[in-house]
Amino acid sequence: MDPRLAGGYVTVDLIAIQQNYRFLSENLKDSECAAVVKADAYGLGAHKVAPALAEAGCRKFFVALPEEGIEIRKHLPEIEIFILGGLFDGCEILYIHERLAPVLNSIEEIKIWSNLTEEHGPLPAILHLETGICRLGLNEKDVRILADNPAMMDGIEFDYVMSHLASADKPDDLQNKAQLAQFKFLRELLPEGLQQTPVSFANSSGIFLGNDYLFDLARPGIALFGGNPTPEKENPMQEVVQWQGKILQVQDVDSEKPVGYGATYRTTGKTRIATVAIGYADGYFRYLGNKAECSINNKRVPVVGRVSMDMIAVDVTSIPREECKRGDLVNLIGGGITLDELANKAETISYEILTSLGHRCHRRYLEAGI
Ligand SMILES: *Cc1c(COP(=O)(O)O)cnc(C)c1O
Repeated sequence: MDPRLAGGYVTVDLIAIQQNYRFLSENLKDSECAAVVKADAYGLGAHKVAPALAEAGCRKFFVALPEEGIEIRKHLPEIEIFILGGLFDGCEILYIHERLAPVLNSIEEIKIWSNLTEEHGPLPAILHLETGICRLGLNEKDVRILADNPAMMDGIEFDYVMSHLASADKPDDLQNKAQLAQFKFLRELLPEGLQQTPVSFANSSGIFLGNDYLFDLARPGIALFGGNPTPEKENPMQEVVQWQGKILQVQDVDSEKPVGYGATYRTTGKTRIATVAIGYADGYFRYLGNKAECSINNKRVPVVGRVSMDMIAVDVTSIPREECKRGDLVNLIGGGITLDELANKAETISYEILTSLGHRCHRRYLEAGI
């Protein structure tokens, strides 16, 4: 990587990801911890993140799409890979060649996968039950159809029966209990052979809802990457991402002066403004203009005026000149600014911040032994 090219850095702490994996595993007591690494491991780079998780002991990985599974398979020939999006139309043979197990989300998918076992022998899968998010999975009607026609799943070896929580980040939300009850109800309607199949239920936040939600396999994503799975409490996870932008220019402003497109901010007197080479094209949302703060040497400074495509303006009047020069770095995440803080300021969630982090930013990985 050529530092002269850099407008900004994203530093991903793989050791922190491994520590987060071990922390969640400990919280899970006897149940196993998988990892959800869809969308290129929430934007952090699955080619680095998945091997680091495997090194920490993770044996089961979930992704959204078959091509994401293929990418991980290249690096990890031994582990199990499940495709949350299901059995994508036309990709069936690819799943078999790459040893990708679909999360079967409908009767139709069950039939297609079962038919393939006639030629290819037993095939692995997860059965998805819909319990209240209305996204994917078998509803009560489908479960009854399956129970009446168990031959339609012949040849499929179900590793797990799963469901997904809609409100796990709110521990007091009654929807959690309702989904748990619906899951138990549907599970009892399943064909005999599936009633004892191990269960996967909790995402990151679900792990913190209590023992009733743990079952056999948890599927955390965001908590591994430093997002707070318990938004109403202090974040128990280690921070993983540091995001820095480079200062292009610092200017002294003597009097009242407009800053940025649309002149939405005006300086009130002697002010120093740093222009930083990060903008909405890098995933620093335009909504953050006049709202977010950055940090320089652990001191907070406000983003002033609108966010441009490639730049933001930061009021650095409070920072000594020698700590804030052309070429220095400003923390957008890190140095006291958390991922969840930035997400809250942007009125979004940590997931969207991570998956939007621009690919113009140069990525660095902190690994053991470096
Ligand atoms: C994305 C996803 C997860 C992981 O959720 P987090 O909130 O990031 O822990 C788990 N299960 C399913 C079905 C998902 O789509």
